[in-house]
Amino acid sequence: MENRIGTRPIIIAIDGPAASGKSTTAKIVAGKLGYTYIDTGAMYRSVTLRVLRSGLLDALRRDAGQVAGLLRDLTIEFRGDRVFLDGEDVSEAIRENLVSREVSFVSSLKPVRDRLLELQQSMGAARGVVMDGRDIGTVVFPDAELKIFLVADPRERARRRHAELAKKGGSATVPTVEELEEEIRQRDREDEQRTHAPLKRHPDAVVVDTSILTIEEQVAQVYGLAVKVLEG
Ligand code: C5P
Repeated sequence: MENRIGTRPIIIAIDGPAASGKSTTAKIVAGKLGYTYIDTGAMYRSVTLRVLRSGLLDALRRDAGQVAGLLRDLTIEFRGDRVFLDGEDVSEAIRENLVSREVSFVSSLKPVRDRLLELQQSMGAARGVVMDGRDIGTVVFPDAELKIFLVADPRERARRRHAELAKKGGSATVPTVEELEEEIRQRDREDEQRTHAPLKRHPDAVVVDTSILTIEEQVAQVYGLAVKVLEG
């Protein structure tokens, strides 16, 4: 680990569609720089879990205003690699399929975005963070010194997700690559078309296409860009 915090801590914003390699890249780059990694997708997933557990999902589809009650007293914390919702470790629960299916809807609600925006901005206030998501460079930290937009071919993203699920094993049947590709495309559409903070590239963001890159190669590209900014 090369701790460059002593130089001039910056914010690195990594946005992009589902399964484009953001979290893998962000985590490793953060480690190399001695920075904190913040997975904002995990924060939206945590709120979605809270909504699902409350049984209010259908009510929210009719009246989004009801979400306000669920956001009161919400706490989300990162401890190392783990995510805690109201003090409970939900790192596995937020990756369940049901959460993945409903997260785009819950993320489209304005009160949810406002609340998480506030939390994310306070988490990054001291800088020295790598934050990944959909709207980090455009909305959360438009002043981030380095903005990256990670993309990859949808079929390749589905293949990677499939390999990941197959490796995890467990009792659940793994969806086919075709099914996963359709899910990924659907989530991208919803994230791109929503009114509040849609997924889109900031004009200053550097596009990195990971379709034919290895993890080492994509990390090297992003890390190289970060070093340039830090030394610039
Ligand atoms: O990054 P991940 O795929 O886990 O994100 C899950 C979902 O959370 C996204 O599909 C999107 O709907 C939502 N999200 C968001 N804004 C962010 C990060 C995630 O709306 N900054």
